[in-house]
Amino acid sequence: MLDLDFFRRFLDRATRVIVAAAPRLTDLDAAIGDADHGANLKRGFTSAAATVADEPPATPGALLTAVGVHLTNTVGGASGPLYGTVLRRMGKVLGEDEVVEPETLGRALAAAVASVRRLGDSAPGDKTMVDALQPAADAYAAALAEGDVTAALDAAARAAREGAEATVPLLARRGRASYLGERSIGHQDPGAASSALLVTALYEATD
Ligand code: ADP
Ligand code: MG
Ligand code: MG
Repeated sequence: MLDLDFFRRFLDRATRVIVAAAPRLTDLDAAIGDADHGANLKRGFTSAAATVADEPPATPGALLTAVGVHLTNTVGGASGPLYGTVLRRMGKVLGEDEVVEPETLGRALAAAVASVRRLGDSAPGDKTMVDALQPAADAYAAALAEGDVTAALDAAARAAREGAEATVPLLARRGRASYLGERSIGHQDPGAASSALLVTALYEATD
């Protein structure tokens, strides 16, 4: 059930996995960026988790919105406003529902990806987080038409991980990595890697 506890479990898992993966995310960013992606997200998620623990939001939408505002304010870099937008947009679509319908979560994911694409002027194939997030939103919608929310989130997480892997051979067209031109080829995009971790955390919150 997609209630407040589900979204709290998501935030807990997301925070833990981001902290654990921070060195790897920073290494990925060292290859094609400025070596701060892991540190940026670790700072943002740990402080967002502490803030919502202090003042617990009452609904799933309020929780995601609070985390999004916090990420925008604390992460810095390109990924802060982008992930902040993802969570705020999802929070807005969830509205004041106490229990989120699986279809509503699908609309929230689709709207969140659209807002990142708009803010970042980015599309699939540009070697960014969109390469993990767009396939995740698409896979969720397709799998939900056939099965339940757990199956849909499992499909979304697998699509996000595959999308992140598939950024390795791409030429970066947005963000710092784009300054490298051809030299960006052969490395996984750090934001796509963190997006795959976050979508996987959403799936893992189902149990
Ligand atoms: P910065 O590049 O400012 O140091 P981070 O290292 O935290 O910020 O985040 C970098 C990630 O942000 C990239 O790997 C990419 O996935 C994502 N990103 C950067 N610019 C864009 C953009 N215009 N659209 C979508 N995602 C972007
Ligand atoms: Mg960086
Ligand atoms: Mg930076």
